[in-house]
Amino acid sequence: MNFSGFDFDESVKKSLSALDNHGRIPHAIVIESKNREASLEAAKYLSMYVVCTGDNKPCKVCEQCHKAENKGHADISYPRPENKSKTYSIKQMRSIIKDAYIRPSEADAKVYVFEDADNRLTDIAQNSFLKLLEEPPQNVYFILLCDSAQKLLVTILSRCTVVRLKNNVKISEKPLEYAGKIVKGIISSREYDLLLALNVLADKENADETLSTVRMILRDGLAVSVGTKAVLNEKLGKELASRFTKGKIIEMIELTDDSAIKIKQNININLLTTWLCGEYRRISWQR
Ligand SMILES: [Zn+2]
Repeated sequence: MNFSGFDFDESVKKSLSALDNHGRIPHAIVIESKNREASLEAAKYLSMYVVCTGDNKPCKVCEQCHKAENKGHADISYPRPENKSKTYSIKQMRSIIKDAYIRPSEADAKVYVFEDADNRLTDIAQNSFLKLLEEPPQNVYFILLCDSAQKLLVTILSRCTVVRLKNNVKISEKPLEYAGKIVKGIISSREYDLLLALNVLADKENADETLSTVRMILRDGLAVSVGTKAVLNEKLGKELASRFTKGKIIEMIELTDDSAIKIKQNININLLTTWLCGEYRRISWQR
């Protein structure tokens, strides 16, 4: 496994390397971490690893790696619950399972990453998944991200390889400061505050990390609102949870993800901040 160019600490590298078995990884992996950013990065890394066509996988330079890194790979999906519901419906699970049997379209493998699996996968949804996990189609990988693997059914866990990541949260100073400003802007009732705060994204070098830090703070808001512990910023987490519903915070997280992709695609920053400001405000105020 190639770790150069990836920002993992030693313990994460060790956990990920342990999955490698002569160039292959297990078909069903549970990544457990309270730091959702870290588990998402690990999942992205693993999906790059299985689709990469380079020598030293993931090479980070081949087309497959690029697409995987920017979440634009046709064979790597991050299914979200449909219709704004918080959990996967049976109907959606069936269509995911059906899809898993269709051959990959651009790589030799297919990957499904389920974020927040311990909350989004109900017992019924997990049960519908069992047979597939037991006899997965060739070169299909399932990665389940969760805060606590114990919340998953034992029957699911017994079919998965569980990776536990340590909860090291390591963020540079500037993105941390910037992200705090943006989240305060989101909480503020004045549009101008948010627009002004979003200007920090003009610092291109830090924009990416700033957005992922915003995401982490929003996640803290979600954590507080479901009664679990905030990881990064408890104070802002509490403010978010008291100001917005869970559904709204989830929408904001998804919006933040979308904007992170737009930044990677080199969208004009003024356009992005105006759009982002409007969207955060729309979510805040919609009924
Ligand atoms: Zn590659």
